[in-house]
Amino acid sequence: MNAFYSEKNTPLTQLKSELFTQLNIQIWIKREDLNHPTVQGNKWHKLKGNLEMALQQNRTSLLTFGGAYSNHIAACAAAAKFAGLNSLGFIRGEELQHTPEKWSHTLKKAAQNGMQLHFISRMQYRRKTQAEFLQRLQLDYPNAYILPEGGSNALAIQGFKGLMAQLESQCPNWTHLYTPVGTGGTLAGLVTYAKRQENRQIFGIPVLKQGEHLLPQIKNWIVNDRPNKWQLLTQYHGGGYAKLSKELQQFMNDFEQQQQILLDPVYTAKMIYGVYDQLKKQQIPSGSKVILLHTGGLQGRSTE
Ligand SMILES: *Cc1c(COP(=O)(O)O)cnc(C)c1O
Repeated sequence: MNAFYSEKNTPLTQLKSELFTQLNIQIWIKREDLNHPTVQGNKWHKLKGNLEMALQQNRTSLLTFGGAYSNHIAACAAAAKFAGLNSLGFIRGEELQHTPEKWSHTLKKAAQNGMQLHFISRMQYRRKTQAEFLQRLQLDYPNAYILPEGGSNALAIQGFKGLMAQLESQCPNWTHLYTPVGTGGTLAGLVTYAKRQENRQIFGIPVLKQGEHLLPQIKNWIVNDRPNKWQLLTQYHGGGYAKLSKELQQFMNDFEQQQQILLDPVYTAKMIYGVYDQLKKQQIPSGSKVILLHTGGLQGRSTE
């Protein structure tokens, strides 16, 4: 087994603050931002099984979809390079085709890692989940292993088994577990593999508007007949995907200073902001042991 496929045991660190002491609540953060140098956080878990499958099926490339700031795109490019596969990214926004000077760090880095970028219009991009479109694409690229936007599928969900096992041994009596939500694949993985206990709840915080639309898909992904209670807290999207208000920016700066842990503005900052709000509104009972999942995503902060 080489370094990509073996799971790293990351630290579970306790956060300190007067607020937590006053409320008599322990807050821990699971540092999945430290799990891999180039395929960070939840994306490592989601890609691992898919890469193994692609290799097993003798595919020669990884093909996927994303926006210009997608951590999934960055992770796929890095992971494909690692596995010796070519990579192909269908990127939303045809105007970027001829303006490489406007590419985000994410796109530049993906290109450096060998990803071939195909820029498509927003209208074309919307077809990315249609069966007919995907069948055509598979015919055009017969040796490609196709992954959906965000990389969530059944194999991705299975990638959270080891992570949950780590958490259960690091903090067996946790009561609350929080994760940010894009597609909800990560949340479904946690809910699937968490040990059932009456006093436990798992919360997903969608970073885009109308997160409740994700519920049917998430339910479908959960492979556990009697899971712990879980729910989406849909009020913390902060104006929509990748929108960063002054207040959230300030919160993120303060948190990073106090805890010496970097966050990303799209996912983990919103999630932790939401948890602090829940704490202030006394939605979490005294004596709780809360785990925040740091899902990584720090590549997006880079500005080089
Ligand atoms: C992609 C991403 C998410 C969202 O994961 P889903 O499984 O799509 O819900 C959360 N956090 C970070 C840092 C991400 O890059």
